[in-house]
Amino acid sequence: MTVFHKTDFVDLDTRIVLSYGAKYGTRPSLRARVELNHKITELALPVLKKILNLPEKLWVRVCFLKAKRLSGRYWDYCTAAEVDARLEPGTFLEVLCHELVHAEQYTTGRLSWKTHGRRNVNYWDGVPVIIEYREQPWEIEAFRRQKDLADYVMKNDPEINKLLTVA
Ligand SMILES: [Zn+2]
Repeated sequence: MTVFHKTDFVDLDTRIVLSYGAKYGTRPSLRARVELNHKITELALPVLKKILNLPEKLWVRVCFLKAKRLSGRYWDYCTAAEVDARLEPGTFLEVLCHELVHAEQYTTGRLSWKTHGRRNVNYWDGVPVIIEYREQPWEIEAFRRQKDLADYVMKNDPEINKLLTVA
């Protein structure tokens, strides 16, 4: 069982957190899967940090996301990515890459948001964009790049490659 300590941080500026639910999961059968995805996160981040323009402080939470059909998300205000711990490991890695593409989009300022009244509006290259999820240019880019990035990680980290092949 993975116990989370401060020393588990990949480096000073990246924190990988196993959420309480994922760590002590009510379903013990999921434990191996959760621990594998946690390990994949630890191995993938140093590789991704080299090729993506990521925020100086980055949190990655490996957790149970409650909403249906939501496998990951990225919060710009706290520079935190969340990826569902239950995903099949190959998918998990792709979703992690997807969310970190969003991290890069925010870090470089191509994607931003402002509050208008009660809603948050996304800006792409400084232009407000209100459009269906799959049509959003930042989503199109993240979906387009996630597989290549995952492949790159696997090529550059033999250990992760082995973990994914066994899984
Ligand atoms: Zn996305």
